Amino acid sequence: MNILYIIAMQAEAQPFIEHYGVEEVKDFFIPLPCKLYRTTITGKDGKESILNVVLNGQQHGSDLVGCEAASVATLSAIERLHPDIVVNSGTCGAFLENGASIAQVYIGNACMFHDRRVPGDDQWGTQALGNYPVWTGAQELAKELGLPMGKITTGSSLDMQPCDLQIIKENHGELKDMEGAAVAFVCSLLNTPILFVKSVTDLCDSGAETFEEFSRNLALASHALKEANVRVIDYLCNL
Ligand code: SAH
Repeated sequence: MNILYIIAMQAEAQPFIEHYGVEEVKDFFIPLPCKLYRTTITGKDGKESILNVVLNGQQHGSDLVGCEAASVATLSAIERLHPDIVVNSGTCGAFLENGASIAQVYIGNACMFHDRRVPGDDQWGTQALGNYPVWTGAQELAKELGLPMGKITTGSSLDMQPCDLQIIKENHGELKDMEGAAVAFVCSLLNTPILFVKSVTDLCDSGAETFEEFSRNLALASHALKEANVRVIDYLCNL
């Protein structure tokens, strides 16, 4: 199994990188800022799997978050690394009214964009929302690992405007992020299965200021993400 993780922020990936002791493959994506970490993992039957962890990298001194950077990293990484599966892992917002809590880890069961408002007929509407397929084994994995599932909606902002909320609610979105649907878009073009593993840093309907809540919970959520990803990788490597 050749597994490719796409992660936006170093802080989200760090506990994970340390757990596996994955080595950075320097300058692999030059001239792109993306970073590659790579190691091999031996499954129960002695079968070797490859674990690739790709970060979007930095520009202007901060980690590149959002759809554009995620698309560039995903396209470039799939073309160069030929993974069997892409896992987009990171943090997200969720909703108290759906029973979500901080540092809960979810497996994505669907994904779409919530801030692409394109008028026109159904075909334009369908393209705008995305609704890309997720890996068919996601439900079985979630069941086996005892993790809840949720629909991911992706937009270009950390905050949530009323028009975003309207689209999220109309489409029963549960997990709000800034990369998921963009990674899935590229995976749909390149016929590569996509799995989402997302940990909650903030509750969009808690009334708290999102950035403050996100910053306060980033370390805790990233630790929970690492714990879940170790189990996800163990599952994938022993399929
Ligand atoms: N300025 C912040 C940048 C974080 S952007 C910082 O200093 O760390 C938020 C990142 O976390 C994105 O990669 C996004 O996918 C995820 N995220 C967490 N909570 C989110 C929310 N409520 N809405 C959108 N994205 C969220």
